[in-house]
Amino acid sequence: MDLTEPQIPEAPTSTGHPKQLYMLFFTEMWERFSFYGMKALLLAYMITELKFDEPKGYAILGSYAALVYTMPMFGGMMSDRYLGGRKAVMYGGILMTIGHLVLAVPQDWSFFYGMAFIICGNGFFKPNISSLVGTLYADNDPRKDSGFSIFYMGINIGAALGGLLCGYVGQQIDWHYGFGLAGLFMILGLVVFALGKKSLGDKGLPPNPADLKAPAFAGISKEVVIYVATLAIIPVIVALFNRYEIMDFIMFGLGALSILYILFIAFKMEAAARFKLFAALVLIVFSALFWAFYEQNAGSLNLFAMRNVDMHVGGVELPALAVNNFLPPAWVVILSFFFAWLWPALNRKGIEPNTPTKFGLSFVLVGLGFYVFYLGCRTSEGSGLIPLITFIAGYFFIICGEMCISPIGLSMITKLSPARIVAMMMGIWFFASAVGEFLASKIGALMSVPQNVVDNPVLSLPYYAQILNQIGLWSLGIGVVLILFSSVIRKWMGEVR
Ligand code: GLN
Repeated sequence: MDLTEPQIPEAPTSTGHPKQLYMLFFTEMWERFSFYGMKALLLAYMITELKFDEPKGYAILGSYAALVYTMPMFGGMMSDRYLGGRKAVMYGGILMTIGHLVLAVPQDWSFFYGMAFIICGNGFFKPNISSLVGTLYADNDPRKDSGFSIFYMGINIGAALGGLLCGYVGQQIDWHYGFGLAGLFMILGLVVFALGKKSLGDKGLPPNPADLKAPAFAGISKEVVIYVATLAIIPVIVALFNRYEIMDFIMFGLGALSILYILFIAFKMEAAARFKLFAALVLIVFSALFWAFYEQNAGSLNLFAMRNVDMHVGGVELPALAVNNFLPPAWVVILSFFFAWLWPALNRKGIEPNTPTKFGLSFVLVGLGFYVFYLGCRTSEGSGLIPLITFIAGYFFIICGEMCISPIGLSMITKLSPARIVAMMMGIWFFASAVGEFLASKIGALMSVPQNVVDNPVLSLPYYAQILNQIGLWSLGIGVVLILFSSVIRKWMGEVR
């Protein structure tokens, strides 16, 4: 421990949370600004600027999103064993900044390289900034959950602003300016962290600093080997983008391995802990399905918003990409207040749904949201353009669904996993998002619109309507099944709710 560094002060801020929470909040806010700002542009940029056909665009988007959420498993591991959270966040942030700035270069080569840097950077950044939040509180500290809720709000304020500004600049002015803007805000996040990280005191330092500095290979320290080995992955990722069919095998293989790993650990434990892991596993698998539906947002719904939503308000045409990427996180920020009130209020009355029921509800709500989009399509067949208010209403239900699974899932993982594998289980939780986003791009590809009708809303609408309807019905069905089986999963969870 470095005794020259200030320690976490005992006295909390006026909100009752340690002041370091706000440093992490702003770091993550600006990082998510750039992450979602860039993602807002990705598919539309490939289709309209790079002239990829739609199935290829969806496949590259799916590969990017899948890899971006697979790498946290490795970034988490490197940080737990060697780097500690602070160095991992700094290194991840630097790679992400490079990635965003590379994307701003208007050259063919820059596209895959920029994404590859962001993928590696996110692997180090994303899991570790969240675990740094965890280090600010003792495990039994009652402020821990609300600390995470505040942090989740930071994520979504950044995502809303990034989607809005980068979506606007990218679509209306220049795609590369949009990517560049994302890069500038990533630098801001990095500066906030670089200046603020000392205030973390002994939190997030490497577990064994001497070992990290010791030569590992040809006189080079372990730390440098980790950094250089990560850079060596970048051309491999670029090669994967060029042969994206291989991603099917990678995602299937890693998915099967993760399930086997959890089962393997579970069978080595005594009964109560084993059943808790079974419950976590079932819920993780369902979460992958959830993201497969939800993540149409960053894929098919971007193109749907551009082609089939009436963006005119009072004679002004709103920029579709900005609107589609602003709405979900903006709803999260608004609805966070409602859910922060709802769950304790239901709890006081003894009727708060348990975790598996909340997961089931999330599917029902997402199903309703997609069904609203579908009904919008059915009633707008004449113009081919659904009203903006219908689009906003559909997202209202979808985000109510997100609130029943995403924050709940994070705390569920920390409660159901044995302490010594909690970081790994968190990595697997994010990996479920990776599988989900990969599946999302496959579902999105079913909504590919032939080139000759993309500019005719009446003709493009049916390509979306049919699949939006299917997503709605499947999601409702899965939600009902999950609610029916919730009592079984609940029993496996033991004393955890
Ligand atoms: N929107 C949240 C975030 O960016 C959750 C993402 C996820 O788990 N797929 O952190």
